Amino acid sequence: MPPAQPQAPQKIALPGVKYVVAVASGKGGVGKSTVATNLALALQLLGRRVGLLDADIYGPSIPIMMGVQETWDPNAHEWPLEKFGLKLMSMGFWMKPETAMIWRGPMVAKYLTVFLTQIPWGELDFLVIDLPPGTGDAQLTLTQTAPLSGAVIVTTPQDVSLIDARKGLEMFRQVRVPVLGIVENMSFFRGEDGKRYDLFGHGGGKKLADAAGVPFLGEIPIEPKVAECGDQGVPIVRKYPESAVAQSYLALATAVSEQVGKVGAQPELPGLQL
Ligand code: ADP
Repeated sequence: MPPAQPQAPQKIALPGVKYVVAVASGKGGVGKSTVATNLALALQLLGRRVGLLDADIYGPSIPIMMGVQETWDPNAHEWPLEKFGLKLMSMGFWMKPETAMIWRGPMVAKYLTVFLTQIPWGELDFLVIDLPPGTGDAQLTLTQTAPLSGAVIVTTPQDVSLIDARKGLEMFRQVRVPVLGIVENMSFFRGEDGKRYDLFGHGGGKKLADAAGVPFLGEIPIEPKVAECGDQGVPIVRKYPESAVAQSYLALATAVSEQVGKVGAQPELPGLQL
């Protein structure tokens, strides 16, 4: 007799949230958290009510990027926090990142469940979730438990990153979460001479999107100010909204809004009994 298929975990209901969008990457260091943060702020600039949930429990960087670096007793504060008009939640607010680094999948999934079910997110148009990088057990459980409308996959133009992005695509296919599209980060550098330099090659993200039959959501250039703003706790979309790179995040937010409109608001799901 074939072994019984393990049952997929039950989806959590988030009735006040219209669209839940995961930002994912096949591997770390491609700029996933930076994209998630600036995408959330760009959606807000477009007039949407937005929450940002840092589920990258192995390396929560959103507290630094959003300039909130204190840790609190979970019971001694009102959650979610609010910063720059975003509703914000990260494991980094409850414990030092080193503590969470050693967690295994089930523990990560348990905390995500707490974030989704016990934090009053209220009425939101978008909840952006910054997933941990990769396609392991923890990621799989998260994608099966969170009521995702769709996923945005972040890649860089290099082949190695594209191979990992392909794995990410496959994971979302397996759990039947629509891939809203692929965004290519660190695509090119615009020199002071106005010329475009394709430092890591050109067109890989678009090629992968075409091959997978998913939308290509755009290119984000390499811009040292992006890293600088992240380190200073004021993301570039907030600090320099007129800059070319902030405009590319706004274009991404517009593309994501269009794509979620196509897949529809998250379906009504039975609430998870805790
Ligand atoms: P990930 O979440 O994929 O691990 P991060 O968002 O933490 O990656 O980004 C990794 C580093 O790259 C950070 O120092 C960040 O500031 C920087 N970075 C991200 N996107 C850009 C960009 N478009 N231009 C320049 N630096 C970037």
